[in-house]
Amino acid sequence: MARSKHPDHETPQKAARLNSEDSFGGLGIGPILVNRLSSQGMERPRAVQAQVIPAVLEGRDVLSLAETGSGKTAAFLAPVLQKILADRPAKGQTLSPAARLRGLVICPTRELADQTGALAEQLARGTVLRTAVAVGTVAITPQRRALASGVDLLVGTPGRLNELIADGALQTDAVQSIVLDEADRMFDMGFAPQIERILSQLPGNRQMLLFTATMPKDVLQLANHHLRGAVRIETHPHTTAATHVTQHAVLVEQDSRIDLLLHLIREGGARRMLIFCRTRRRTGWVASALSRHGLKTGQLHGDRSQAQRRRALDRFASGEIDVLVATDVGSRGLHIKGVPTVVNYDLPGSAEDLVHRAGRASHGTRKKGDAWTLLGPKDLDRWYELAPQAGVAADPERIPGFSPSEDTKRPRGSLPNRHETRHRPGPGRRKRASRPIPKDQKPGRGVRRPKAD
Ligand code: AMP
Repeated sequence: MARSKHPDHETPQKAARLNSEDSFGGLGIGPILVNRLSSQGMERPRAVQAQVIPAVLEGRDVLSLAETGSGKTAAFLAPVLQKILADRPAKGQTLSPAARLRGLVICPTRELADQTGALAEQLARGTVLRTAVAVGTVAITPQRRALASGVDLLVGTPGRLNELIADGALQTDAVQSIVLDEADRMFDMGFAPQIERILSQLPGNRQMLLFTATMPKDVLQLANHHLRGAVRIETHPHTTAATHVTQHAVLVEQDSRIDLLLHLIREGGARRMLIFCRTRRRTGWVASALSRHGLKTGQLHGDRSQAQRRRALDRFASGEIDVLVATDVGSRGLHIKGVPTVVNYDLPGSAEDLVHRAGRASHGTRKKGDAWTLLGPKDLDRWYELAPQAGVAADPERIPGFSPSEDTKRPRGSLPNRHETRHRPGPGRRKRASRPIPKDQKPGRGVRRPKAD
């Protein structure tokens, strides 16, 4: 057998695993990182990894249409870390902290940045590389301190990265690889000027990796403007629904939606559930309503502090709470393993969001998941547009054993519907809308600000 090219191969089998075409080693990742990937359950490269890794190691710019769940995070982290490792200064030499930062990853949300930073840290463990995360709404001083002491790869959100650049804590002169993750999402969130500002600070010869689930006009413009001779990698059509998830659509009036959720949880065996709502306010209502029915709930939306969001995620991941209610802030890139049921309390705004939200069901497991989309009569036209785009069978179904007219019989005021009417337009509702919400039913700071998230 040919001698392996990695020094730490102990057995021919291991050498074969590390060097074969369908191994990370075979793609050019060195043994240290191959082992770190393996410690994260990543033994064999996924399609996106098999294509992105060699291109990044060759120094090419990359435009990758990859949906969340495809394995895109390791697809960029592994080769970027590998390049930094390969370029590390010789023993005895040290780089100044400013010259050390060679990888920069920009993510749209704090959650995604935290998760990406956590994987980066795992992969860099046991190496000389240092990674850090810089996101908003948490103290900036520790981030400044980390940068001052030297970081090789930084993951952050656009606002905080700009703040750190503005005050001189973040110096980008040595950055060799910049990753824009979920670029379409960043544009949706209005980050275009901040991204442009960061890009304008980078050296001219940097490598750029752009990951996006969809290709709207503004992302295409960014790609045309900033990518040079990029390899375009499209592993999955972005609107392909996850195959392990069965999608259901149910026709149900607003007034009966909480009953339907309770029915799914109590009769349908959906013990753990991730529910998506369109607005922060509704997220609060739904969580409060379910709490009043004895369920342990958490909320995830843009009006919650970073600490509250993290706590809700941790408690949901550990099984301490049964139901997590979220706006779309939570739909992409979140890895909460083993949540079998996702519910779209409101119809998502696009086919992509429908796919992303449903993709959270049984994410990271081999088990089957279910995604339920609740539709009012007014949603039907839109649903018949979105469902085919997302590859979902469109006809709404009935849920065995659930009859709204029966299930909605309940003591007056036991459900949050009177609060839900607060946001509905219509002259008849106005007076009610000014009624204060009882203290114990206030869903959080989002109540008074009817911003979509
Ligand atoms: P991502 O698309 O990066 O959000 O990754 C989705 C999930 O896939 C994460 O839970 C990863 O741990 C997992 N994953 C990524 N790459 C691999 C791989 N090569 N083998 C097994 N699991 C993987």
